[in-house]
Amino acid sequence: MEQVFHLIGGERIAATGATLDITNPATGQVIRRAPEGDAATVQQAIEAAKAAFPAWRDTPPARRAQVMYRFKQLLEAHAERLTRLISEEHGKTVEDALGELRRGIENVEYACGVPELLKGEYSHNAGPGIDAWSNFQPLGVVAGITPFNFPAMVPLWMYPMAIACGNAFILKPSEKDPSSALAIAELLEEAGLPRGILNVVHGGREAVEALLDAPEVKALSFVGSTPVAHAIYSRGCANGKRVQALGGAKNHAVLLPDADIDNAANTLMGAAYGSCGERCMAISVAVCVGDETAERLIEAMRPKIAALKVGPGTEKGMDMGPLITADQRDKVLGYIEDGIRSGATLVADGRELTVAGHEEGFFVGGCLFDHVTRDMRIYQEEIFGPVLCVVRVDSLDAAIELINAHEYGNGTCLFTRDGEAARRFADSIEVGMVGINVPLPVPVAFHSFGGWKRSLFGDLHAYGPDAVRFYTRRKAVSQRWPSSFETAHAEFHFPSGS
Ligand code: NAD
Repeated sequence: MEQVFHLIGGERIAATGATLDITNPATGQVIRRAPEGDAATVQQAIEAAKAAFPAWRDTPPARRAQVMYRFKQLLEAHAERLTRLISEEHGKTVEDALGELRRGIENVEYACGVPELLKGEYSHNAGPGIDAWSNFQPLGVVAGITPFNFPAMVPLWMYPMAIACGNAFILKPSEKDPSSALAIAELLEEAGLPRGILNVVHGGREAVEALLDAPEVKALSFVGSTPVAHAIYSRGCANGKRVQALGGAKNHAVLLPDADIDNAANTLMGAAYGSCGERCMAISVAVCVGDETAERLIEAMRPKIAALKVGPGTEKGMDMGPLITADQRDKVLGYIEDGIRSGATLVADGRELTVAGHEEGFFVGGCLFDHVTRDMRIYQEEIFGPVLCVVRVDSLDAAIELINAHEYGNGTCLFTRDGEAARRFADSIEVGMVGINVPLPVPVAFHSFGGWKRSLFGDLHAYGPDAVRFYTRRKAVSQRWPSSFETAHAEFHFPSGS
């Protein structure tokens, strides 16, 4: 069986102890094994990163950017191999895997602009004969912990910018599908990154806790579920680190009666069922204003759900692959049972779906619930599967109130032709990323990505301009030279300016 290895200080380190199984979710078969890093492995990575950092910190940003340019070219040249790897371990379709990779590459492109992004601020004559400036210096050793659902893109949200800013990075990818992240890290080394600047350590909780407790790790970016995000934020902050921890979601799309329902139904198909609903920006609730809007949406979606092509993501032309694990499939099936028990109407039922030749795969077909209410678990909790819930309300205000009361605030969208309603919605909704007739409003790489409420702990968002601030610290320098000294004696008060 193929073995995955840690990448530490440029060395490929195989398992000597415990290993983690990596399963192809379309077949249910274990296809690779990864070493399970412990606290000692993490310390090894920290030492490698610490040793490599000073020279990289002093490398001019323009030269660091050259590595990113080469990295982008290599990512494009290896796109086919990488998307296959993503699809094989995650289950998403190869077309979707390519989209994920493409969005990841955008972050590398943004990092190519690092000389411009690191330009500081300067004030000539801030005081008599005094010049003052702020510059942005790297933090040192920083780390990232990433989820299974975007195994290539989410790591690329983090380390291209962290490294371009002059830091050394330790990545702990998801143990469920770590191979694409590792393959991509090897390409960065091939692009000319000095050894030890990017290290990949596999593992689970023990490795993460070692990163959280290590004083050498100055900042930590996390993306994953809310309970883990909250725990990581609390422990990292208590240890004096800078932490950004992005969590789960329950994203609502609101449909007003004037919306183009056919268009909304088409785009909601992708937003709800793409990647089997395992996206933090997936739409999992459709809030319909008025019963007629709900009826029209359901009638438009019902045949499309029945026609979904579900199968192994590595086969071209599929709409939806399997869920990530048997546990996740059982969890999703449990939510569907719960929805039925609590009185919601199951309009489309994907529970009995089987994929010929892949009976051991973790497949669930598209599901649609109507008459979902806010007291139901299927409404309150993140299901992370191909389940869309329709909630009926009687006004836009009621829709806004519903969304603002939810504990998550990652993404949301409004379908309408009414500009005034759209403006009011975008202004008053307590959600970090808002789409108007755009169901998945994932910001492009030159903006930043982040939710509100329990979808993000911390202040700065991921990637884009916020990442430059997250991975650097400001230094303010005030300077004057002897010829401009005004006083020949000591002064004990702040200059008053008079
Ligand atoms: P997860 O929280 O189970 O795991 C994320 C990472 O944390 C993994 O690397 C895992 O090894 C590690 N981890 C898990 N349990 C841990 C623990 N107790 N202590 C320390 N580390 C631990 O998340 P997942 O199942 O891999 O990913 C799906 C979740 O991620 C969903 O909730 C989804 O909404 C969320 N997500 C959010 C965003 C966002 O931008 N807000 C993006 C992608 C995914």
